[in-house]
Amino acid sequence: MSKTDYLEEKQHIIEVSRYLHEIGLLVRTWGNISSRVEDDLMLITPSGIMYDDLTPEMIVPVKLSDMSYKGDFKPSSEMLVHAAAYRVRKDADFIVHTHQVFASCAGTLGMKKIFSYYEDDDVTIPVAPYALPGTKQLADSVARTLRKFKGTNGIIMSNHGTLCLGRNSKEAIFEAMMMETACNNFLTDVCKMDVTQGVEEMFSSHIEDGKIVYDVKDTPERVKTIHKQIYGKRSDVNFIIHNKSDAIMTVSRRANNMRPLLDDFAQLIGTSVRIPSNEGEIYNNIKKNVNVLFVPNDGAYCFGSTYEDAEAVAMVLDKGCIAYMSVMRNGEGHYLSMFDCIRMNRNYRKNYSKLADTVRELKEDDKET
Ligand SMILES: [Zn+2]
Repeated sequence: MSKTDYLEEKQHIIEVSRYLHEIGLLVRTWGNISSRVEDDLMLITPSGIMYDDLTPEMIVPVKLSDMSYKGDFKPSSEMLVHAAAYRVRKDADFIVHTHQVFASCAGTLGMKKIFSYYEDDDVTIPVAPYALPGTKQLADSVARTLRKFKGTNGIIMSNHGTLCLGRNSKEAIFEAMMMETACNNFLTDVCKMDVTQGVEEMFSSHIEDGKIVYDVKDTPERVKTIHKQIYGKRSDVNFIIHNKSDAIMTVSRRANNMRPLLDDFAQLIGTSVRIPSNEGEIYNNIKKNVNVLFVPNDGAYCFGSTYEDAEAVAMVLDKGCIAYMSVMRNGEGHYLSMFDCIRMNRNYRKNYSKLADTVRELKEDDKET
């Protein structure tokens, strides 16, 4: 680019991403941020890079008219959504897309709008109808919703996350924070939810030199058996996080079949998870492409080949359980279709292994230079 390479703007996007990460609205590589720097040009965060690892050259300039971009980094897979929003909203120059917990969960109830409050003000948050992530259909759904609710700076993308707009980063960040509080208020009032979010680790373990190492010294034999069974049946697993968060505990008390309510659940955890009613049934539920194991009244074991993978599963399961409880208490909700779940799950596993290779190469390049 001739005039400028927008270094300052790129750095600002990184600062914003770190800030949102710090306050818990952005996690891992999920979500993305963009800034419109010319009528026809936005800068957007790349696909699949951890926020801690971002550098200005990874922020991708994308032309809004034809989605073309240059450079070594692939723009976020949600670039179509950002571009659609900029096209509808000429006044917006900054967009934040998050997978934040309470807003995402409120977006699984099948409602067209969430009516709530923030401090003393009433708040209406539109919900854009569901479409698969990364598709033109999703971008169209977002554009339609923004056209319908003129002037709104924040919408929920059904079963997925939020889209927060502003004339600048400050406005977009405010919108994301406001929506999270408003949606938490909504879930508390309407669904009578009173859960804390997050991972509550109990008896975790990992594989070291081919042996199981338990993080807690006095791990009970009963629990050790569960770990051994998981490692025995899943040779790809190296880390197990035993998660006893509020929401997971509540769900583990009720035998059921849990279907995905959120895209990231379908991608990372699996297309269907059984919650057994007695200990005897537990081991039948260790499956190839399901990364959690529920134990009656004892939370869930979340696993992955790396610690980061297992941690991601633990976080997404907690959010998924909050969504599940919200839908149960609301009496209705919008589940993802099995077809969409299978498609997302397959795509994710395929792209993820490719991405892991790229990141490894990047890190090796880093060491050399
Ligand atoms: Zn997303």
